[in-house]
Amino acid sequence: MGEPLFRRLALLGFGLIGSSVARVARERGGLAAEVVANARTEATLERVRELGIADRCEIDPARAVEGADCVMLCAPVGAYAALAQAIAPHLRPGCILTDVGSTKQSVIRDVGPLVPEGVHFVPAHPVAGTEYSGPDAGFSTLFDGRWCLLTPPPGTDAAAVEKVAEFWRRCGSMVSSMEPSHHDRVLAIVSHLPHLIAFTICGTADDLEGESRQQVLQFAASGFRDFTRIAASDPVMWRDVFLNNREALLEMLARFTEDAQAMARAVRWGDADYIEDRILRGRKIRRSLIELKQA
Ligand code: NAP
Repeated sequence: MGEPLFRRLALLGFGLIGSSVARVARERGGLAAEVVANARTEATLERVRELGIADRCEIDPARAVEGADCVMLCAPVGAYAALAQAIAPHLRPGCILTDVGSTKQSVIRDVGPLVPEGVHFVPAHPVAGTEYSGPDAGFSTLFDGRWCLLTPPPGTDAAAVEKVAEFWRRCGSMVSSMEPSHHDRVLAIVSHLPHLIAFTICGTADDLEGESRQQVLQFAASGFRDFTRIAASDPVMWRDVFLNNREALLEMLARFTEDAQAMARAVRWGDADYIEDRILRGRKIRRSLIELKQA
């Protein structure tokens, strides 16, 4: 790949997503000449040094962003306001401030007002992940063939938006722009609600009386097993996603609850056609995902 897009990229938060970006930079080139890592704890930065996936580690976010021409927030979205406050006075004029957060309206609400004059703010969300977290969990192919959604506020510098889009294309992603509230509604149904259901169903199983609970774990069928994989995700990251996409998540949960009640009614009254129709719709969605190569 040609010249790197940025001279110095500061990654604030160095877990699954931050360390995956750093690995792409290291293994494929073309992203940044220098990568600076920042995390909340020294323990994480010590691990980053051992892994050798950043050029420099800085525990102080203000120092991490000094001289950077791209700063990417890769911490849980609940930490963004405090991080933005800490770095704002240290951002270099002309620098691009972007992020990878799973919610977008909250990021614009929390970070937008703190962005200094002359800094380009381009919120983004790579829709790619696993249930693992921390710097060991990242890998350089995470973003391949996955979407990255950009939600630039109106009036954002077009060249800065294009640079962020090119950054994600070089990470292997397909890029699209979206209105932030639309992003949050779409992600509420495709990602946030499924996680809420997975955490809940595991809690329901865990609440069962002694012997039944034991047997749930012993004979876990594939359905329950798949939920436990999603439910193994990072608690802080997901707590922050739920609290920062409250409206859209509650709306989708209300719709889901209505549909679940309709299914319950069909089961109670033996409405075989209704049940079969819903199952067929599920199969159709799965087939569409496979055709779109997003399964
Ligand atoms: P992660 O693996 O848990 O890593 C989080 C990183 O943020 C760690 O380096 C952590 O530092 C740092 N951090 C935590 N709290 C902080 C605070 N209060 N201030 C500063 N730094 C803090 O998380 P991740 O999965 O990479 O997620 C990062 C972001 O990507 C989140 O905004 C999430 O919504 C978004 N995202 C996640 C996925 C996914 O599937 N995981 C997919 C797309 C987007 P320490 O290690 O020192 O605690």
